[in-house]
This record gives sequence, structure tokens and C-alpha cells, in this order.
Amino acid sequence: MAALPYIVGNWKMNGTRAMLNEARAIDRAAARFPKVQVAVAPPATLLYRTRDAVELIGVGGQDCHHKESGAFTGDISAPMLKDAGADFTLVGHSERREYHSESDADVKAKAEAALSAGLAVILCVGETESQRDAGDAEAVVGSQLEGSCPRTDGAVDKLSIAYEPVWAIGTGRVPSVEDVAAMHASIRARLVAIYGDAGADLRILYGGSVKAENAGELLAIPDVGGALVGGASLTAESFLAIVGAAA
Ligand code: PEP
Repeated sequence: MAALPYIVGNWKMNGTRAMLNEARAIDRAAARFPKVQVAVAPPATLLYRTRDAVELIGVGGQDCHHKESGAFTGDISAPMLKDAGADFTLVGHSERREYHSESDADVKAKAEAALSAGLAVILCVGETESQRDAGDAEAVVGSQLEGSCPRTDGAVDKLSIAYEPVWAIGTGRVPSVEDVAAMHASIRARLVAIYGDAGADLRILYGGSVKAENAGELLAIPDVGGALVGGASLTAESFLAIVGAAA
């Protein structure tokens, strides 16, 4: 059976308690879309409260440390996310890779830590604009997958990939339908090379300036199994328009 489309809101470093009203509104409306899997990744400060505020939608972290505990000031471990009520975590978002210098090996270790804490993982990959202009987009993303995909037993069962071209994040620009289709096909081939037949079933989300206006077209592209949404996930109204496009 084909997996449901998966629409995930990444709130990034946005939101205080007032945002819980948006989470509640998303959760109430999710009942109207039983054929869409919906989740949000609030900032860690809101994780526990968001978990408490919703019933239907998934709740996740935006990152985790690769160790379970220790002297890592400011960091949050995967078991802590789990304890706060997370179902999943993002790892390898390009903002983490860029501003926190996370390597593929770091991302792989985080993904493996999250899986062993019982969390599902959404692993983000994507090329920069100069890499795309140089014709290297597929090679770059393939190498990110090779280096950052978790290899622990059963990893494939709780893993999704989010293809997010760095130049499309928060810019209002999106790749052409053909470029998204070609990249998702290339990611699929790489996942099968890494995981064997099980790699054929992983969901591959698209992320980068997804909005109500372009969501229908993006979600109709072959092998686009959902969307990771940043800016447009910050209000229930704009996020639900995307959820509606996936239904
Ligand atoms: C993101 O950062 O994951 C993202 C997709 O952002 P935006 O939708 O704002 O481009």
C-alpha cells in the first residue's frame, strides 16, 4: 500500500506559547484530511507543550545531538526529544549543515542516535545554487546520502528523506518540475543502492518555498511523497492550504 503523503512544518527558531494556537488549529483541521500524514517540528522549547496541545498530528524535533547525554551545553539529545513527546526529528537541515558546520558523518551519527532512541528521522539533503549551476546537483546530493544515511538495523523502516535545494529555502524560488522529478529519481536510485529493495519504499519529501500556490504541482511530481515546509507552516491557514493540496 502506498504511504500517505507526509506534510511536515518546520517552525525553525520561531514561536512562543502563542504558537500553540496554530498547532491546535492544525490538529483540529487534520481530522478533515485522513489521507494526509501531518506533523510539525516546533522549537525545542515548545515541544512538550505542543505534544500536549495536539492529538492527531505528529510532533518532532529539528535536530538532536549524537550522544545520549553529557557535557554539551545547549544541545539536546534524542532520548530527551523522545521524553518530551517527539515522534521524529529532522537531521541534516541545510541551516544546521551551514551555520553549525555539520558534516555528513555528524548527520549520520545524529540519525543513528535518533533511531536508537525510538524516533523516526527526516534526513535533509540538498545542493547550493553554485553546485546546481556547475551541473553537480545530483552528485552532491548522492554523496550527502552516501555519507549521512543511517546504517543501523531497521533504519530504513523509520526514515524519510527531504530534498531541499539550499537556494530554494526561504527565497520564493523553486526548481522546475523536471528538475525535482530528476532529483527524486536520482535519490531513489541511491536509496536502493544503499538499502536494497527497502530503499524503494522510503518517502522522499520536497522542501524549499512550498506554498499553497505551488503545492499541488510539486506534490503531483512522481516520487514526491510529501513536503517539508518552513515559512508557510507558521500559520495554520497557510499550512493547512498545503495539507489540503496533498489530500
Ligand atoms: C525549510 O527550511 O525546511 C524550508 C523548506 O523552508 P521554506 O519553506 O521557508 O523555504
